[in-house]
Amino acid sequence: MHSLTEQFIDNAWVPSRAEIRHPVVDPYHETVIAEVTAGDPADVEAAVAAARRALPGWRATPEHRRGEHLDAIAAGLEARREALAALSSRNNGKPLAEAHQDLSDAIACYRYYADQARALGERQGQADDSGLDGLAARRYWDPVGVVGLITPWNFPLVSSAWKLAPALAAGCTVVFKPSEVTPLPERALAELVLEAGLPAGVVNLLHGDGEGIGAPLSRHPGIDKLSFTGSNAVGEAVMQAAAHGVRPVSLELGGKSPILVTEDADLAQARDLVMAGICYNAGQMCSATSRLLVHERLADALFDAIDEAMGALRLGDPLAAETDMGPLANAVQRDRVRGFLIQAEREALASATPGLDLPEHGCFVAPRLYRDVPTDSRLWREEIFGPLLCARRVADDEEAIALANDSDFGLAATVVAGSPARAEAIARRLEAGNVWCNCDQVAPPHASWGGMKRSGIGRELGPAGLEAYLEPKRITRPTAG
Ligand code: NAD
Repeated sequence: MHSLTEQFIDNAWVPSRAEIRHPVVDPYHETVIAEVTAGDPADVEAAVAAARRALPGWRATPEHRRGEHLDAIAAGLEARREALAALSSRNNGKPLAEAHQDLSDAIACYRYYADQARALGERQGQADDSGLDGLAARRYWDPVGVVGLITPWNFPLVSSAWKLAPALAAGCTVVFKPSEVTPLPERALAELVLEAGLPAGVVNLLHGDGEGIGAPLSRHPGIDKLSFTGSNAVGEAVMQAAAHGVRPVSLELGGKSPILVTEDADLAQARDLVMAGICYNAGQMCSATSRLLVHERLADALFDAIDEAMGALRLGDPLAAETDMGPLANAVQRDRVRGFLIQAEREALASATPGLDLPEHGCFVAPRLYRDVPTDSRLWREEIFGPLLCARRVADDEEAIALANDSDFGLAATVVAGSPARAEAIARRLEAGNVWCNCDQVAPPHASWGGMKRSGIGRELGPAGLEAYLEPKRITRPTAG
């Protein structure tokens, strides 16, 4: 059994000061596969001090050298792909093919920001119009400083790549806290950092929970910026902590994203996109399209097709090739989703989804479609983070758009229509950071990711993902001399 009781600080593994440990569970076998330290504020002190010591050297490292280090991390991930995908699948419960997709996404992200680091080097010092005779101006971008990065458990190695890669490209040093639920795959990052030859203190990885590490990290005055992905409740706490010292935050929070299907949509395509939007990663996606708004003419046929597809899913061992859907990531999450099943019964919501035979063990919840869900239902309004889909019929596009936008969240949306042009016209009116028209939820590294309204602040990935770790600087001086 792995024992994750050490913290990675200053390129060395040092014992955590904490005595409390949490079990790390394989959610399919429901067995303890590791224990992880709860972490201690003293660990945070040591890691922040290391990151501060490393900052002057790392920010002075030429951007192209920083890019080489990122390429080396990508190569390290590639070399360990098989082992890491299996470990992630085991720890998180996601089917192996999805874990491989995560690895591909993480590798692409480190490579993208390696290129972005080089491009940053080229634009440093570019001339800018001073606007005044006799004065010349130049533009530079400095790193924000020491950053605290906090991630959840649903996409191990991916959420961390979206933060670590741009932060390192920008010249920031890092204290990174992965989720205590999925520490096993993330731990490998420390080994990759060593292999990639990063100087001591540039990346520090602290295992632990919110109390032991997350909260002390958020309020630590030595942290210049916080980037957090997770729930709204914790995101608000992080933002409040960051208010002391006026430290900036980037927040990637929850969602309750809609999928809109027009009357001229292709039924099979609509079914497939609905299924992917709610069943991938067992629905544990911030961008899960968990509210279906379908034109009344297509509604019954689509509902039946979804029920049939859900009834045909093979739930089982995430490492088995034939498995379509694994268990939820842990018992806490399963119980949360079960709570919504009980709530649906209380609200007498209608569902015709055939009950699937669940495997004998594992944190499974069978996928389910609820038809004609009232808009004041808790299931319609709250993020469930599991494979429960709520649907409503609409009379026209206007009603669909109004209902889609009637949410506290604004992370993502999908539109399925008879033509991409019609879908795009609808997409333009949706309040969401990403809208996919007649296609899967793609998020390549050069795109942007993030939400409107309560889904967060700022954007990850793409050029915006790098800007999040940079401070623009302008230098003006007399032209002569
Ligand atoms: P969570 O908010 O409970 O935990 C996220 C991280 O915060 C974990 O590492 C946790 O240990 C840490 N944490 C807990 N308490 C803390 C505190 N007081 N201060 C600082 N850190 C603390 O979320 P979760 O259950 O791990 O993940 C599920 C949530 O994440 C969902 O709401 C989902 O929508 C959201 N999410 C959003 C995105 C996005 O890109 N918008 C992506 C993935 C997940």
